[in-house]
Amino acid sequence: MAHDYAGRLSRAGEATGRSELAGLIVTPSADLIYLTGYDPPPLERLTTLIVRPGREPVLVVPELERPRAAASSAGELVEIEAWRDGDDPYQTVAGLLDPNGEYGATDSMWASHLLGLQGSMAGARFVPGSRVLSKLRCRKDSGEIQLLSRASRSADETFRQVIREGLEGKTEAQIADALATRLVKTGHDAALFWIVGSGPNGASPHHDPGEREIRHGESVVMDFGGRMKGYCSDMTRTVAVGEPSEELKEVHEIVREAHEAAFQAVRPGVPAEEVDRAARSIIDDAGYGLAFIHRTGHGIGLEEHEAPYLVGGNGELLQTGMCFSIEPGIYLEGRFGVRIEDIVTVTETGGRRFNTTPHEMATVR
Ligand code: ZN
Ligand code: ZN
Ligand code: ZN
Repeated sequence: MAHDYAGRLSRAGEATGRSELAGLIVTPSADLIYLTGYDPPPLERLTTLIVRPGREPVLVVPELERPRAAASSAGELVEIEAWRDGDDPYQTVAGLLDPNGEYGATDSMWASHLLGLQGSMAGARFVPGSRVLSKLRCRKDSGEIQLLSRASRSADETFRQVIREGLEGKTEAQIADALATRLVKTGHDAALFWIVGSGPNGASPHHDPGEREIRHGESVVMDFGGRMKGYCSDMTRTVAVGEPSEELKEVHEIVREAHEAAFQAVRPGVPAEEVDRAARSIIDDAGYGLAFIHRTGHGIGLEEHEAPYLVGGNGELLQTGMCFSIEPGIYLEGRFGVRIEDIVTVTETGGRRFNTTPHEMATVR
């Protein structure tokens, strides 16, 4: 998939100027991948892209990585400037920038690098680079939407295959393993996470799957995802192993309604927090408000969690092309938990789901 890196770089330069920043300092991260396709590991040796309004971008790299950078997609897009071991790379960067400017620095930049930059540019100020880049990254183009929807379809297929084989008598770790393996078999490049919470463990939203054996009459929360050609999947379903109790059925139905209400609230121009409120009011009204212990969703793309966040207090307006999870849940400590999660994109007319797995609770062996 050829992404429009040149367009992204020029839009990033313009957005930097509009934000009244003198530049962006982008170290290895999803930001760098988004802007150039270059994906080196973050290291103690400084690699950083410099984006300045109205000027050509420059990629500063250690000399020994110059060949790798030049051979990457970044090689054709940006000028490369190398520094040698023994040089001070922060001085190299300072030489490209206004020493008294305000800069957006990649949010996940190592402290050692930010401190190095601060040391060599004592008059400069630094703000989170997401202030500029998350506004660009959160609206996916058609190529990105295609990749995200393919990743979600592979997650759907993974779920279908794993529940078809039955859960009873297996350990959480075995199911986690099956999810990870199937994600790759159905098209992901790598599985990234695999939460399997059986019975009372389902009440811990980020439970680490262990040796607990899944028994008849329990519910199991499965939340898993991976990366496909750079883009992430993330889905959750809660299943009943054997006939569910009345209480489990009731709680699952409340979560299903909350999910649907959130989905129906998705539309361009709606504040992100309204989607959270839509889900939360259903769960509040059913008397489980205190058991819904997290936000309703998070953006997804090159990263598993990114902007926009569907959370109270986030007045950011939804725009077409945004992609995020909707994942309300109810967690009853010591007993069980229920969560339903899909990835959704914002279209002109409302939300569109990438996942196609039904929301009704599946009863499995
Ligand atoms: Zn989570
Ligand atoms: Zn998830
Ligand atoms: Zn999620």
